[in-house]
Amino acid sequence: MEQYQPKSMLHVPESHVPRSRFPLIDFHTHITHANAGGVRFSMDPANCLAVMDRKNIRTMVDVTGGYGDGLRDAVAKLQTAHPGRFIVFTEPAWTKASDAGYAKTQADLIADAHKSGAKGLKVLKTLGLFLRERETNKLVRIDDPRFDPMWEAVGSLKMPVAIHTSDPEAFFLPIDRFNERYEELHAHPDWSFHGKDFPSNRELQEARRNVIRRHPKTQFVCLHVANAEDLPYVSECLDSHPNMFVDIAARIGELGRQPRASRKFFDKYQDRIVFGTDASAGTSTPQQTFGDALYEIYFRFLETEDEYFDYAPAPVPPQGRWRISGLGLSEQILRKVYRDNAARLIGISA
Ligand SMILES: [Zn+2]
Repeated sequence: MEQYQPKSMLHVPESHVPRSRFPLIDFHTHITHANAGGVRFSMDPANCLAVMDRKNIRTMVDVTGGYGDGLRDAVAKLQTAHPGRFIVFTEPAWTKASDAGYAKTQADLIADAHKSGAKGLKVLKTLGLFLRERETNKLVRIDDPRFDPMWEAVGSLKMPVAIHTSDPEAFFLPIDRFNERYEELHAHPDWSFHGKDFPSNRELQEARRNVIRRHPKTQFVCLHVANAEDLPYVSECLDSHPNMFVDIAARIGELGRQPRASRKFFDKYQDRIVFGTDASAGTSTPQQTFGDALYEIYFRFLETEDEYFDYAPAPVPPQGRWRISGLGLSEQILRKVYRDNAARLIGISA
């Protein structure tokens, strides 16, 4: 099966969309990564700008900008050096989460990050799946009250929260012949959350929902369409929480295999969806490898009605063996999703 690369024999239109219809903001990219005491640049800003100019990308949001001196380094080399082209978000100081007084320390770090230029807060799936109490090794809940001052601080500073919670449902199931992500989990066995002390996907989603409910003045952008496999649940959440938004990063494989439901979802929530890709360096996850090919697939998915094409630039579909169909969104919706919704959230002029 690993070598099986079936070619579609369908005679259907194949569009090539080299540039997006409108200039866009990529709300979800990883140009830097926080490491001990600083940030590491995994992509070269000059190389980013070359791709951005070719693809019609006005701005990239580097969500993993760390905090403290690392954040200041990222802001200087991206946001300050190239005004309007890059935006940098801060991250919580997870290593301090079990310290006494963390709740206040973290709120103060948010104020410091805001002063340093950070325009938002990124919360990795670390919260809910990896962050544990130092003493007991128990997983820390997403809705743990120690984070309340942080959620309030970003809300009052008008910094949106980009939050990734949980993962595809198949990652919580046995890696067996019924698992539709068998090959993906086979390639990344450490992505499985089955059979240990992890909460269920729904429990993680509901814990995040408690946070969104408790902090109505804070704007939460739930990354990866919040829970892309369950659009009825995401719709119910969006209906109950006006401070909730979603991005589409690394989930066109999910949206594009349910194109009629997705099209209705974009129609209904056109003011709440932002464009993002999860673009990163490296090639082990082709569905998010930064470059021209990645963006062209997103543009084809959003702008055309092409049918049955690959959702990632890879010889074998990396998330599961299916293909996607385009949504053919209207110009009005494209403008909002590509740029206006994100610009409003970040507080930059559209
Ligand atoms: Zn990401």
